[in-house]
Amino acid sequence: MSREFKWEYIRRQQKFYRAFAFIIIASLIISRTCGLLQSTRLMVYYVVITTLACMADQIFAVFAKRESFNGRTYKIKCLLFFILFAIGGIFGSLTLPLVILYLVYGILIICEDLIMDDLFDSYKGYTFTIIYVLLLSAGIIIPYVKKEIQSADIVIFGAMIIGIGLAVVLVRRISILVATSWSEKFNDVYYKSQDVQKENEKLLELQERIEEVNNAINYQKVQLSETNSALEKKNIEIHSLMDVMISYTKSFDVDADIKSMIRSIKEVKNASLVAMFIEKDACFNKEPIFEFESNENYAPNTIRKDTVETLNIFRKNGSREPLVIAENYIHNRSIFERKGCCISAFPAYENDELYGVLIVAGDKYDFFFSGYDYYKSAVVDFTASLISDRLYLTMEDMAKRDGLTKIYNRIHFNRFYDEMLDNIKNNGGTISVLMADIDHFKKVNDTFGHLAGDEAIKALAKIDEKIAKKYGCEAVRFGGEEFLLVMNGKNLDEAYRIAEELHKAIREDVIEFEGREIKINTSIGVANYPETVQELDKVLDRADKAMYYGKTHGRGRIIIDGRWDPEDMDK
Ligand code: GH3
Ligand code: MG
Ligand code: MG
Repeated sequence: MSREFKWEYIRRQQKFYRAFAFIIIASLIISRTCGLLQSTRLMVYYVVITTLACMADQIFAVFAKRESFNGRTYKIKCLLFFILFAIGGIFGSLTLPLVILYLVYGILIICEDLIMDDLFDSYKGYTFTIIYVLLLSAGIIIPYVKKEIQSADIVIFGAMIIGIGLAVVLVRRISILVATSWSEKFNDVYYKSQDVQKENEKLLELQERIEEVNNAINYQKVQLSETNSALEKKNIEIHSLMDVMISYTKSFDVDADIKSMIRSIKEVKNASLVAMFIEKDACFNKEPIFEFESNENYAPNTIRKDTVETLNIFRKNGSREPLVIAENYIHNRSIFERKGCCISAFPAYENDELYGVLIVAGDKYDFFFSGYDYYKSAVVDFTASLISDRLYLTMEDMAKRDGLTKIYNRIHFNRFYDEMLDNIKNNGGTISVLMADIDHFKKVNDTFGHLAGDEAIKALAKIDEKIAKKYGCEAVRFGGEEFLLVMNGKNLDEAYRIAEELHKAIREDVIEFEGREIKINTSIGVANYPETVQELDKVLDRADKAMYYGKTHGRGRIIIDGRWDPEDMDK
């Protein structure tokens, strides 16, 4: 029989004994009160041992849980209390009700003793039973001897004892059967319930785990979707930066580059204001460049002023980090007031040179929550495009200019001169062309050397360029020591005066080379459309011819096309 069953049995039996002990104690007190029991001491004695027996049962119930619990100790307890009970009968004066109680108690103990035998597989003989029966008999014989009960009672009790003897054997058999089937049922139910409980616990544990895993999965899902949307945003940003980079490569115009950057930032970030300012000469720009786009109609001048002020802040503190101007409507500076909930400025550096600033404002709270990387990248990309623009423009300019004198070369002249002529053809107008050739230049080379000749060419080019700038004309090195001054929109009179100024300046210029002074003179020819020549395409040729005429007529002169004696041309 399982330990759990034994324990369960003792627990229940102990409950029953408590109730039984209560009945005994109550009967004792009632018997004493009614005078059925004469001795108060006997009453107290029985009350005490009944209580002690009850308590002992409680203790045994606790011990019965242990594997080592032995039924024998329980049997000894039963015997001990029966003896104590019998002693009361022997030495006290037992009356009939008490004897009945005594008998019932005795029978119960015998039954219990037998059941315990079966439960704990302790002693299975009848030794204890015989002792109990003898004690029971003593409990009857003694009162009879003491004349406390009658002979008729003895016969009844004798019959009862024999009956009890037979009943005991019967009870034993029944008890074994009952206990076995009860135990089986109990075990069945108990273990099943135990199994179910264990299964339930496992299920609960599993459920908890599933819940935990579910929570973790949900958390990961949220994280994943957040990461996804962040990635998506980054993707859009990267694509926009790439698109802007592509647009940078399509043009070498800084102004257009600024505009496409501003537009892209405004679109991608849904900014309320994007402004960019760059200093003059950042990329051959003669004036500072300022561009902006905004949601509302801001006064461009105010925004420009604030942007320049921001640039000055960077200039003063030399910072390369973004400057927070406003954060969630809290303005840190007096600039850009009411231009957005969040405003930040990003300095634009080329190497260590601060050349501009980008301003971005947004109307949403925590507009710059995802950081400044995108804007920083936009500025870095813009700087890269600025450098490439400059490189391209430098190369383009170099291709237009002559290597020695740095004024426009013949290739570039051909291009812009054609455009000028086309324009005049389409829209009308006047153009004068001046051609100058150094007189006896070979002599300069021969006398002072080629390097000195180079210096003379450079000096002439410089004067040509200076005059060109002064009158809004174009200076060109047409050949070795031949120069042009293209005077678009100048009539013959104006052209002649300019030619005189040029001629004089060259004549008066003193070129110093290795401590020696070189002076040069030029022969100049001037032609004008439509005053000296009516065919536009022939103006250059006629200026050349006029110059050539000067060469053949004393050199050092200005010849106006057509104002020579054609016969002299043959000389
Ligand atoms: P003229 O008065 O008839 O023009 O006489 P000239 O000696 O100037 O004759 P021409 O114009 O035919 O001579 C041009 C000379 O200029 C020939 C060439 O050696 C020289 N020359 C051309 N290009 C350069 C240059 O880049 N550097 C130097 N030092 N000399 C050059
Ligand atoms: Mg010459
Ligand atoms: Mg020449």
